[in-house]
Amino acid sequence: MSVSRLLLSACAASFILAAGVANAQTPVLTDPRAAPLALPRAQPDIPAPTIAVYPGVIRYEVDATDLDRRIVNVRQTIPVTPGPLTLLYPKFLPGNHADTGPIQLLSGVTVTGGGQRVEWLRDTLDPYAFHIDVPQGVTEIVVEFQWLTQPDNTVWRVTMTPAMLNMQWEKALLYPAGYASIGITFAASLKLPEGWNYGTSLTTQTFEDGVATFAPTDLYTLVDSPVFAGAHYRRINIDAAHDAAHLNIVADKVSDLVPTPDQIALHTALVTQTDRLFGARHYDRYEFLLGLTNELGSIGLEHHRSSENVVAPDYFTAWERNVGSRYLLAHEFTHSWNGKFMRPADELTANYNVPTQNTLLWVYEGQTEYWGDVLAARSGLRSKEEAIADLATTAGFYDNQPGREWRALQDTDNHNMLGYRVPGLWTSWMRGTGDYYREAQLMWLDADTLIREGTRDRKSLDDFARAFFGREDGVVTPHGYTFEDVVAALNGVYPHDWTTFLRSRLDAVGPDAAAPLDGIARAGYRLTYTDALSPLEKRVQSGWANDFQYSLGFTLTAANRLSDILWGGPAYAARIGAGWDLVAVNDVVGSAEALRNAVTDAKGTDKPIVLLLKSGSRFRTVTFDYHAGLRYPRLERVEGTRDRLSEILTARRR
Ligand SMILES: [Zn+2]
Repeated sequence: MSVSRLLLSACAASFILAAGVANAQTPVLTDPRAAPLALPRAQPDIPAPTIAVYPGVIRYEVDATDLDRRIVNVRQTIPVTPGPLTLLYPKFLPGNHADTGPIQLLSGVTVTGGGQRVEWLRDTLDPYAFHIDVPQGVTEIVVEFQWLTQPDNTVWRVTMTPAMLNMQWEKALLYPAGYASIGITFAASLKLPEGWNYGTSLTTQTFEDGVATFAPTDLYTLVDSPVFAGAHYRRINIDAAHDAAHLNIVADKVSDLVPTPDQIALHTALVTQTDRLFGARHYDRYEFLLGLTNELGSIGLEHHRSSENVVAPDYFTAWERNVGSRYLLAHEFTHSWNGKFMRPADELTANYNVPTQNTLLWVYEGQTEYWGDVLAARSGLRSKEEAIADLATTAGFYDNQPGREWRALQDTDNHNMLGYRVPGLWTSWMRGTGDYYREAQLMWLDADTLIREGTRDRKSLDDFARAFFGREDGVVTPHGYTFEDVVAALNGVYPHDWTTFLRSRLDAVGPDAAAPLDGIARAGYRLTYTDALSPLEKRVQSGWANDFQYSLGFTLTAANRLSDILWGGPAYAARIGAGWDLVAVNDVVGSAEALRNAVTDAKGTDKPIVLLLKSGSRFRTVTFDYHAGLRYPRLERVEGTRDRLSEILTARRR
């Protein structure tokens, strides 16, 4: 059965149909004697979505052949009836958890009906809405426009390169207001440059002369099914059981498209281990879209039956070096269960212009981060030692993060709505997006080890995953869930006061609030700091050479600029903020190496560390009375305790 039919028949009522896009009667603070606010013409309301089905099929033709200008040309033929019609550009994008639809890149919007131009009027309160008055006698309109994709990643990511395309339909379409995304049918086609091929979870009807024509599907499924296309493409089965999961690899260079049989086996093991964890699949077919590229903008974005993943061009050819990206596919794959099938109820919105809320991102992203790392280790994509070294960096970061003093983990769920992932000058103090991933990951380790300890290691968070995400094998229709549902499922595995457990960690705020590190101890480890990282730790903590977070309290960028000053740390105490450049260390030219040498020389002595810094036209000489040496986080085994972490990271045999 098609996804669209499942969704439409079973799920319509469970989507959030709340308005939120309709124009309210906004009180305007004006002099009552002034003339009333004048608009070019009356502005209609924007209809809220209902469960009604939009009559007819929208023909949707996308031309992505204009590589040199990086322009995607779109033509939509929309069946209509005469009278008012509002077209929406998607605003709240799935997986972005925020209003990130790049409407600024939509241009050249032209509407014709019955051979005549039909003028549109943009809504003045919601600029993502275009009002049209369909003339009498017109039964379909043609809407044409361009998606002006970007040449670099400064503001929006690059989606089109000379050898590659990442087609994200929601960035290049308009849809009628008043309907849920599952109630609107699109018949999409995509014209690609000559000789290109592509991967997607959409069903292809024909692929001729560079034009892929897809089976008509609902807007929800279309938006959830992006395309990676390119001049160099390979599709590889990684499903040992059913031939239902594939790597769809596109590469800048054909010479990078060379996974070894061993590497393919590790990706196959990921699918097997995920089956064993959840005990169910919520996809008929899953397509990993994997770009090996320096040119396409980076991405890791989840969908129900596919995911968009960009890694370095040498992902396969320099396997050791790319340890940092070998958890990515495991993370995005986990989202098929956690985030897509089981969806926080407040993110299960009817269409892309109903505002999302994100109160459960610590499950959606936090537990996905947990399982992504666990599954990467269980499948062998990363070794157990690599996984433990990575967890040490997370534990170290939160052990030293002062932002909890004013901002609870729960509040970081709102962070994307504050402006999409604004880079933080004072990350340790501001807190943000990373926290509902990584601090929440520590919380789930805490929960996992608590269940293991409390059940004498007979049960674990695996049982929660199977019960909560693995219910209803074969069912694709998303289920909305609440905080109470999470608590109930945890109680089903191991009765405990889970409400207090979760709330005390999610809402912890103030000077006494501590990072959730209990799970480390229950897992049989302790957090320590070392000045001598092993070669493996250096590969995992790839930024170690420039990392002075745990010593002087900052990171040095490749351009020798101090950044991420640790709030309350030694550099902060010396009144250094972001943006100072390192000119000299003691009496030598400033560099990360010179700084490491100086910190090491000062260890256990009374020698000062003297930095010459420059900001604009100002110089400052700053002296650090710091003698504890270089410090990097490490998880150390506590002998005589049960090594639960190792057990968690071990491949399941069934
Ligand atoms: Zn994620």
